[in-house]
Amino acid sequence: MNRSEIFEKLARLEENMSQLNNDLSELKHLTVQMVEENVALQVENENLKTLIDKEEKPKKVENNTKTQRKKPLRSKENLAMLYKEGFHICNGELFGKHRKGDDCLFCLEVLSE
Ligand SMILES: [Zn+2]
Repeated sequence: MNRSEIFEKLARLEENMSQLNNDLSELKHLTVQMVEENVALQVENENLKTLIDKEEKPKKVENNTKTQRKKPLRSKENLAMLYKEGFHICNGELFGKHRKGDDCLFCLEVLSE
């Protein structure tokens, strides 16, 4: 292998590595987006379940109250878990976004409600 071949190889390798790096950061960005979307959907699903429970409540017989009381609690636990995992659970634009390690007073307010 002569010197110019070595430099050519190095240049190609460098190009490949920079392409890999670009792909990696693109994938990282997409993953964050997907996880945030997933969290938002999960919370929305919980909210809808709670809503359905409330709608169905008058139709159900009194002795079902025990199981129904548990549902809102469970969704609260779910929110607490999501917050612990590092996501915003407060209403508005930040909802479902990653907190990137910052505490959020609005989220804490939701949890203490
Ligand atoms: Zn928040």
